[in-house]
Amino acid sequence: MPLRDVRPEFLARVTMLLERLGEHEMAVGLAGQAYYGECRCGPRCHAVLTAPPGSSSSVMIWLEDEGGIVGEVSLDADGAMITAVELAADVGEPATMEPLA
Ligand SMILES: [Zn+2]
Repeated sequence: MPLRDVRPEFLARVTMLLERLGEHEMAVGLAGQAYYGECRCGPRCHAVLTAPPGSSSSVMIWLEDEGGIVGEVSLDADGAMITAVELAADVGEPATMEPLA
């Protein structure tokens, strides 16, 4: 099922953040990707999968809003396709998500 049908507000938010970072192709691509459910790797993980579980590589992009990190996008090993997206729980509020070292 397309992500835009399941999580339209989430998609709109992530698309806006990607566009703001200049990742236009990735933003366009995300709109056509499917929803693979939420990641279940841990209780604090709220990532939305846009590829089958296990597709993510270590390549990722921080999503920033007004200077703060508000989420992250995981990519496949080629860095070409978004495999998972996680937004901080309190999106819209000042960022509270700290980058992991
Ligand atoms: Zn996870």
